[in-house]
Parts: sequence; structure tokens; C-alpha cells
Amino acid sequence: MSLVDWRPIGAGLAPMGILRRSNINSTTDSCRPHSRHGFTLVELLVVIGIIALLISILMPALTRARQSAQAVSCSSNLRQIGLAFQMYAQSNKGSLPTCGYEYELSQNINLWPSLIHPYLNRSTGQEPGRDYMRCEVMIRGTADDPNHQLNTYGVNYCRVISYDMPDSYNNPDGTKPWWAAGTKKLIRLKADTFLAADAVGSVVYTPEVWSFDSDFDGNGVVDTNASLGWEAKYNRLDPRHPGKTANMLFGDGHVTAVPVAEWEKNINNIWNSGK
Ligand SMILES: [Zn+2]
Repeated sequence: MSLVDWRPIGAGLAPMGILRRSNINSTTDSCRPHSRHGFTLVELLVVIGIIALLISILMPALTRARQSAQAVSCSSNLRQIGLAFQMYAQSNKGSLPTCGYEYELSQNINLWPSLIHPYLNRSTGQEPGRDYMRCEVMIRGTADDPNHQLNTYGVNYCRVISYDMPDSYNNPDGTKPWWAAGTKKLIRLKADTFLAADAVGSVVYTPEVWSFDSDFDGNGVVDTNASLGWEAKYNRLDPRHPGKTANMLFGDGHVTAVPVAEWEKNINNIWNSGK
């Protein structure tokens, strides 16, 4: 036995921890020159290119998913508004609430949103569609809502929901003016007449009275009464959902997305034209 070979029995069996550390150190040392290699510019550009490609593939899908989630949420809002209309009618001899314009808010006149608010069980805000349960596509403070106070849903004015003015506003012959004829009874609404819809402000002006005389979207079809001013497009109906559709609440409480082109044609007498 040489001097080098001599050691006590068991001296070659070092504790496991010591052996392991020794192995790691030797491995790390052998790899170190390679780990300093890093990325070349070409490799970096390839990775960036792949990430950009993935984003371009995923973004449209994400946008579609967001839009369809917004449309579902909007339909749910209108369905709840429909239930509130029904409860209001049950408490008011079958009548629907009355109508109004935004500028009357300052005059403390009760409009349809604040009249159905008590039936929606919300502790905050006063107007569904404006203070809560907004259609998420219409963003406050944009060109569509510069005053931060417009309702995102409008009712079918004035053949379905109208003013209920005092008799002092009556015509000389004692009849009520057409714009203040009062609202319809809910039970008299047909299942294919719309009651409320995506809109800019709390009313959609019926084209039966405010007839189309200009082409808002430039597709060759007259679709707007220009006298209604800056918010005139589609007489305030707002087809803001995919496929140029507006969600609509109908007389029987169902909600569906209606393409603006169908609304323009008054399909199934959707406006409830005629008195
Ligand atoms: Zn909507």
C-alpha cells in the first residue's frame, strides 16, 4: 500500500452533501464559458417577431371576445329594465312610465329611468342606463356623450312612451298634442314592437314623425332626420354592437340584437307606427 492509497476504512465515503456540492461546482465550472454566450441580435429579432405574430393572431380574437361580453352584459341590462317596466305597470294600472329629455333633469321632472329606478333594487344612482347598468360600449365623455350624463338606452318615443302633460297643454279642441299623448299600456304593446334600445340619450325619435331625410352612414339609404342636431344619427338609435346591431327590448320582455338596416325598414312595424 502506497502512501497515497493509505486512508482509514470509510474515509472514501464522504458525506453525501459534500459529494454533491463538489459535483455541482465541477459542472458549473465546465458550463460557465457557454452561459456567457447570450443572445445574438438575430435571435432577439426572431423572438420579437414571434411575439408580434402571436399578438396579431390573438388580438382580433380578444377584441371579439370583449365585444361579445359587452353585448351579453347589455342584453342583461335591457332584460332587467324590461322587468322593471313590468313591475312599474303593475303598480300603475298597467301604464308605462312617462318620457323626457335630458335637459329636464335640472327641472326635477320624473323621467322614465328615474321612475323605474325603485324597482331595480339599487342603492346608488338614480337612472338605470346612465348611473348604473350602462351599455359598456358607450364611454362617458366621448363625442357621443360629451356632457357625461347621457343615458345609454332610449325608449320608443312617442308612439309607445310619451309625455303625460297637464291639460293646459291640450290643443284648442281639448285633445292632447301628439307629442304629449301619454304612454301606452304595457298590455297593448305587441311582441315585435320595441320598447327600449341602445341609444344616445333617453329617447329614440320615431322615424314616423321625425322622418328620414339624410344619410348618416353614407351607404346610400336615408336613415336620419337631420333636424335632430348633433346627436341625430339614426334618430338617436345607436347600433353600437357587432354587425351594426342595437340591442332592443320588446313589448313581451324579450331582448334581441336588431341590425340597424332592419329597424330603418320598420320591419313588423317595429316602431309601432299608427296611433
Ligand atoms: Zn348596448
